Formats: sequence, structure tokens, C-alpha cells
Amino acid sequence: MKQISGIGQGPILVIAAHADDEALGCGGTIARLAELGQKVHVMFMTDGVSARGSGDAEARRHAALDALSLLGAQQPVFGEFPDNAMDTVPLIEVARAVEEVVASLKPTCILTHHHGDLNIDHQIVNRAVMTACRPQPEHCVQTILSFSVRSSTEWGISSSSNLFHPDVYIDIAHVLPKKIKALQCYSMEMRHFPHTRSIEAVEMEAKLVGARVGMNAAEGFKLLRMLVRDE
Ligand SMILES: [Zn+2]
Repeated sequence: MKQISGIGQGPILVIAAHADDEALGCGGTIARLAELGQKVHVMFMTDGVSARGSGDAEARRHAALDALSLLGAQQPVFGEFPDNAMDTVPLIEVARAVEEVVASLKPTCILTHHHGDLNIDHQIVNRAVMTACRPQPEHCVQTILSFSVRSSTEWGISSSSNLFHPDVYIDIAHVLPKKIKALQCYSMEMRHFPHTRSIEAVEMEAKLVGARVGMNAAEGFKLLRMLVRDE
């Protein structure tokens, strides 16, 4: 089977706080991996209710199912942590929820949030993933990458420790239209240009990130951990 080097052949698990983060952060990469025949699972941590109202939560769930079907991902796991209030839950509970899903799906690669995002849920999900995936002997996860999410990563506190500076680039030029279609499923979350979370800004970002490394369009990731075992 063909593969994207560094990501491995095992299942991929995207762990996102909110439905739409996965499409914004790594929608192109999900589509590429799925096209290559790799199983891509997505776990959403929050219930989408607390900050918005229950009617919106149902609509968001449907939007997520449509978006993931377009991208070729498996059926998602929906968590029940409070939207935009994950800091009211002990970190250990969030980490345990991640541990359970990791134990059941056995991913070799996890894609998740950047630690320095403005959004508190994104920060907590990053912490919970790193806690749940401590590199103990025989642990299935070999690679952890973080992605950026428009209107959260670039709006974080601008300190050197918070900056998102990718060191892994994945070419998404031929799947960029799929990423855009997936984002159109989340029309209630998208805004008009010049908002940073607009279709135009997403397209510009993909092209600019790609151009940095000589690609027509790319998604950038920060490598958090990679284990190369002697198998
Ligand atoms: Zn989010």
C-alpha cells in the first residue's frame, strides 16, 4: 500500500475539540490518507451544546457526518465534554476518554491541536493527548502531529513558546477542493472574508503554506513525537 512517509500504515486518529476543527486543521490530509486506503478515524471531544444551544449541536453533528463522508473518513466518535468549557473538567477525565478510544482503535499516528491555541478546549485536548499517549513500552502510537485551526492558532498569545511553526508539510493540492467542500458543510461555523475562518482565507493559507516548501498547496503540522522502533 502506498503511504505518506512518516505517518505509517496503521490507522490514523484525528482528535479534535469541535466538529469543524478537523476539516480546518487537516481536512486535506484526511482526504489524501483516505485516498491511499488508510483508515482515518476522528474523535470529537465536545458535545457542541454548551456554548451554542442544543439545536445547533444536532446540526453540527450532521455537518460533521457530511464533511467526514466527503473526506473519506470513518464514522466519528462524538465525545460529551462541555463546549468551550473543557477547563471545568479534570484533565485526567479528558485523558481517560482519549485513552479509551486509542485502546480501541489502536492508531499508529495521531493528529491533534496545537498547545498554544487561543481556544481553551484546543489547549486541553493537546494536553490530554500527550498525557494519554505517554510512550510506554508497546504503546501503539508512534507519531503525534499538531495542526493549526484558523481563528484560534493564529489568535493565540504571540509568545515564542506558543507560536505554531510547522516542520511537516503535506501536499494537499489535488484534494484542496475536497477540503473546501467539507468546510462548506460547516457553513454555520464559516464566516465571510476577510474573516480568517472564511473559505477564501483557507484557500490562501493552503497555497501560502505550500509555497513555502515548493508545493501548490499544503497543510503544515508540528511534529510532537515520532518513534522509530526496530520491528
Ligand atoms: Zn475548535
